[in-house]
Amino acid sequence: MPLVPMKQLLEEATKGNYAVGAYNVNNMEQMQAIIWAAKETQSPLIIQASRGALKYSSLVYLKHLMLAAVEENPEIPVAMHLDHGNSLESAKTAIGLGFTSVMIDGSLEEDGKTASDYEYNVKVTKSVVEYAHANGVTVEGELGTLGGIEDGVGSGQIHVTDPAQVQDFVEKTGVDALAVAIGTSHGAYKFKEEPKLAFDVLAEIGKRLPGFPLVMHGSSSVPEELVAIVNKYGGNMPNAKGVPMKAIQQAIPLGVRKVNVDTDSRLAMTGAIRKVFVETPEKFDPRDYLKPAREAVKQLLVGKMKDFGTAGHAGDYKPKSLEDYKKLYAG
Ligand SMILES: [Zn+2]
Repeated sequence: MPLVPMKQLLEEATKGNYAVGAYNVNNMEQMQAIIWAAKETQSPLIIQASRGALKYSSLVYLKHLMLAAVEENPEIPVAMHLDHGNSLESAKTAIGLGFTSVMIDGSLEEDGKTASDYEYNVKVTKSVVEYAHANGVTVEGELGTLGGIEDGVGSGQIHVTDPAQVQDFVEKTGVDALAVAIGTSHGAYKFKEEPKLAFDVLAEIGKRLPGFPLVMHGSSSVPEELVAIVNKYGGNMPNAKGVPMKAIQQAIPLGVRKVNVDTDSRLAMTGAIRKVFVETPEKFDPRDYLKPAREAVKQLLVGKMKDFGTAGHAGDYKPKSLEDYKKLYAG
């Protein structure tokens, strides 16, 4: 089974000093674009669903789309991950669907908006870890809060992770990976100018947690050329700005092993669809615009997989199962 716990992907990425992209999926065309990019570049892959995506697709549709991608590509190690779980209940739902990894974002309260306190974060994260690890499932926690709001998630305030807390948090909760806030932001309107990420904070966290996988959220680059296509064909996205690829590449050797990308795929898809609508207004078959949209997302992600260093690593190791990790956690 090439469906693997995310922990294995991150451990292998640590050994190879690269990052694995975690790409959000909501529908079939996105799913195909993601897995076909991974196949073309021979990259291990994290496919992730937000709570909003699960709601949009009424859970089982998304589950089976993800499983279809896995079935079609047995040579690609794939982790199915819940993005921004907000409670033990949401983690249980994802694990029940067969996800091999869950995020519990205890930096926010259950409403996904209000910044929580440290004690709450430790408590809710620990409860998810206990349940998930008993099933062999990986857990990602979060310390500090990102800027921006996406899919209704986020306090809208950046609180950079306090490096003094990271060891205590990891020890008390038992998480496998940690999302850190170093100045990145969710959504397309991240920054007014080129952002300054807190690399000093990231380096300090890496020093306190050597070899521990860190996660960067809100890390779409919002490429100018994609925004230009959207705007050229009737869109209205002024001054959208993201995290430059070179900043992400600077973060990877400091311990970042998972990089979340959602906004860029949305932009690529929207631009391609708008182009068809404007250039060929007589067309009305959804395949006429969804096919180029799928191709645009695929091309975008082929580039990311190369830039993150993931390309070529799919065959490096023998995939492990949830059962294997269940035993590891129990021992
Ligand atoms: Zn996020």
